[in-house]
Amino acid sequence: MGYDLVVVGAGVSGLVAGVRAAQAGRSVRVLEKLQQERYVCNSRLTTGVWHCCAMDLLSDPELLESRIMDVTGHYAQPDLARAIARDGLRSVRWMQQLGIRFMKGPFNYQSFMLSPPSLTPQGRQWEGRGGDVMLRTLETELIRHGGRILRGHRAMRLLKSGERVTGLQGETTDGEQFSINADAVIIADGGFQANPEMLRRSISANPEKIFQRNAGTGMGDGISMAQEAGAQVTDLRGFYGHVLSKDAFSNDKLWPYPYLDYIIGAGIVVDRHGDRFFDEGQGGVAMANAIAASQDPDGKIVLADDRIWKECGTQRLLSPNPTLLNNGATVHKADSIVELAGLCGIEPAKLQAMVDRYNALIKAGQGDQLTPARTTGKQSPYPVAIAPFYAIPACAGITYTMGGIAINDVSQALNADGSPLSGLYAVGCAAGGLEGGEKYGYVGGLVKSSVTGLRAAEHFLGELQA
Ligand SMILES: Cc1cc2nc3c(=O)[nH]c(=O)nc-3n(C[C@H](O)[C@H](O)[C@H](O)COP(=O)(O)OP(=O)(O)OC[C@H]3O[C@@H](n4cnc5c(N)ncnc54)[C@H](O)[C@@H]3O)c2cc1C
Repeated sequence: MGYDLVVVGAGVSGLVAGVRAAQAGRSVRVLEKLQQERYVCNSRLTTGVWHCCAMDLLSDPELLESRIMDVTGHYAQPDLARAIARDGLRSVRWMQQLGIRFMKGPFNYQSFMLSPPSLTPQGRQWEGRGGDVMLRTLETELIRHGGRILRGHRAMRLLKSGERVTGLQGETTDGEQFSINADAVIIADGGFQANPEMLRRSISANPEKIFQRNAGTGMGDGISMAQEAGAQVTDLRGFYGHVLSKDAFSNDKLWPYPYLDYIIGAGIVVDRHGDRFFDEGQGGVAMANAIAASQDPDGKIVLADDRIWKECGTQRLLSPNPTLLNNGATVHKADSIVELAGLCGIEPAKLQAMVDRYNALIKAGQGDQLTPARTTGKQSPYPVAIAPFYAIPACAGITYTMGGIAINDVSQALNADGSPLSGLYAVGCAAGGLEGGEKYGYVGGLVKSSVTGLRAAEHFLGELQA
């Protein structure tokens, strides 16, 4: 088989790239390892809010760019940050032209949320919802321009001729080997969040104790293939995710929402010994990473008092209060910290002493005296002082990994020396260099996917004309 372009993965990033190239008359095949007509990938499960670091895509691109650098603690590659900031809106407009429908989301930075919305009070609902409709619309457009998705085709290794990637090989779900030649390959396989071995190397010594808040398809094939072909891979630490009720492991109604981030922003997180272990002020994504990286990822407990439970616990849609209770999650409630400690299996006097000291320093505005320090970065801490008190056994939920194949601003995969690896691109959650760093900076999986996908295809088309 031979085509102008072959894309690995039929999520939003791969389909955006494939459709854009097909629109320009190129022969395109998009490989999708899953066989089902409506294969369930992250793009199908997505909530569908196109944003940039929780800022509206209608914002001034310069503001968006500086926000990306700020949120990632200057970890983001500047050229990549600029590309996302400049083309986020353009990519949405391009999708709208294909007939993909967006609506305003419930919050002011959400001018573009896929329609119909997928949020549901109990677990996941994707059929006929935003992500599902988007993928089907993209596929229809692909077919209209002569392209196709090859379902049940898993890409496994890249072919090279000299320094150039010239195609790939793989296996179908029936066990047949296949080989495809192409002028370029775009890797869009969605990250490595579902691969325990890869997670063990960079995210957590206990990957089985991290909850898979995703479709379970991202096995990191793209990273492995690209590395074997000589591509550079970024720092693989860091994932986008949230802190969830630990009961999500056994209760499907408890993911992808509600997440506990807003309670954590005002409250306290302790380990099973009653000790704080990470600054709650860093936000829910950072806390999820800290829980995953800790020795004991399934031994963490979120503490709140009545004020936090009622004020912060009810923030946002599908808030923990009352969604956790409605869906059967464990929420311990007690009239005193001592009693609460007993319910959680923590030594009561120890927890009481920790909370007393914490409250005194928070009231005095001296959170920096705590170990670890309690900053007021994203949300101000409240004293945990008003009965009744609450304790929620928690876990880290991983949505997608932030690191990946190193790319430049037109999504070309890079060699170890930083030069482009001819014929190879990486897009969406397969690509690294935008999100992560010490602050676990989250920019937005969808905007990253649509912009890198569009740019990869446009660069490829430009190369053909040159
Ligand atoms: C519950 C949930 C809510 C979310 N909400 C938001 C949100 O509101 N806003 C936001 O910005 N982001 C959100 N995200 C993240 C966003 O949806 C993802 O970042 C985005 O969809 C990723 O797209 P992708 O194309 O990179 O990967 P995916 O959608 O994961 O697609 C990759 C595809 O590649 C296929 N594949 C994998 N390996 C191979 C192989 N070897 N050969 C062939 N095919 C392969 C997979 O089966 C899959 O279909 C959410 C994610 C989830 C799970």
